[in-house]
Amino acid sequence: MVTFLAGGTGTPKLLYGADGVFDPAETPVVCNTGDDVELGGLLVCPDVDTTLFADGDRLDRETWWGIADDTTETHEELHALADAAGLESGPRYLSDDAQTAGRDIARWRRFSGVAEFMELGDRDRAIHVTRTSLLDEGYTLTEATETLANALDIERPVLPMSDDPVATIIHTDEGPMHFQEFWVHRRADPEIERVEFRGAETATPTDAVHDALDGPVVIGPSNPVTSLGPMVAMDTFREALESTPVVAVSPFVEDRVFSGPAAKLLAATGYEPSTAGVADAYPYADAFVLDEADGTDFDRPVVRTDTELGDPEDGARVCRAVREALETIGAEVP
Ligand code: GDP
Repeated sequence: MVTFLAGGTGTPKLLYGADGVFDPAETPVVCNTGDDVELGGLLVCPDVDTTLFADGDRLDRETWWGIADDTTETHEELHALADAAGLESGPRYLSDDAQTAGRDIARWRRFSGVAEFMELGDRDRAIHVTRTSLLDEGYTLTEATETLANALDIERPVLPMSDDPVATIIHTDEGPMHFQEFWVHRRADPEIERVEFRGAETATPTDAVHDALDGPVVIGPSNPVTSLGPMVAMDTFREALESTPVVAVSPFVEDRVFSGPAAKLLAATGYEPSTAGVADAYPYADAFVLDEADGTDFDRPVVRTDTELGDPEDGARVCRAVREALETIGAEVP
C-alpha cells in the first residue's frame, strides 16, 4: 500500500493515468477537509469530491472541480430569487452562535445558501445532499464518503483526513475569512497576516488514516499551506509522517508555480515561494520529485522528470518517478 495525500487539484492530476503504476485498490488517498464549507445546510467537501469524481470518471477535467457537463439551474435560480428579493450576494456567514451549533463537522465555516457564493452544479449538489443527509442519519464523514465511493463504483479508498472539524481561516488585513471566501470570492486578493487551522488542536485523524499512514506516503503537488497544513496541524498526523518514508512532488518549477495561491500563502507563512520553500515546509519528506528544468539544490534525494500534468501519460510518467524516489529511499512499494 502506498498512500497519497491530496488537496483539490495536484494529486488528482497526478493519479490520472497512474493505475498501471499504483493499483488504485492498494493506493488510498487522504483528502484535506480544511477547505470544506457548509452552504445552505449542505456540507461541501471540495477536495474529497475531486478525488471521488476523478476516480468515478465524472470530473470536469477542464476546471479540475465539479462534474463534467453538469447544469447549474438550481444555482441560477438561487441568484434570481436573491436578486428579486433584494438580498445581497457574496459570502453570507451565519451568525457566530450558528457557527458552533448543529452538525459538529461543519463548525466555523457555515454560510447561508442565499445567492450561494460558490457555484454548485445540479448533479454535484446531489452528492452534497446525500453526504449531509447521511451525516444527519449518524454516519461519520468517513462512512458517508465510503458510501458515495461505492455509489460511484470506486475501488480506491478515499479517506477524509479526520471526522472532526478543522476550518482553514485566513487572517487578512480585511479581517478573518474562511479559505473559500479568500480564494473563490476574493481571488486571493487580501493581504495575509496569518493562517489558522481552527479545531486542529483537538481534531484527530481517523483510524483509517492512521492505518494508511503506516506505509509509504506520497505528497502529490499540493499547496503546502492550505492542503497539507490542516493535516499536519494534527499532531499524530505529523508524527506519522515523521516515522514513515515520504516522497513529495513539487508544485513549483524553481520559483514558478503551476497554478493557485501556493506562492502567496508560502510567502505569508515565512517560506520562500519556490521548490526550496516547499522543501523547508516538508521537513518530514525524505525525497522529492522535481521538474527536469528545476535546478534547486537539495540535501535529500531527488528524481527529475517533466512534471507538467494534465493527460494520463503525464500522470503515469510522474508516478513512475515517484516510484523510483520511493525505491531510492528504501520504501517497500508493492
Ligand atoms: P487546491 O486545488 O487549492 O486544493 O490545491 P492543491 O493543494 O491540490 O494544489 C495544487 C498545486 O498543484 C498548486 O500549487 C499547483 O502549483 C500544483 N500543480 C497544478 N498543476 C500542476 C502540474 O501540472 N504539475 C505540478 N507539478 N504541479 C501542479
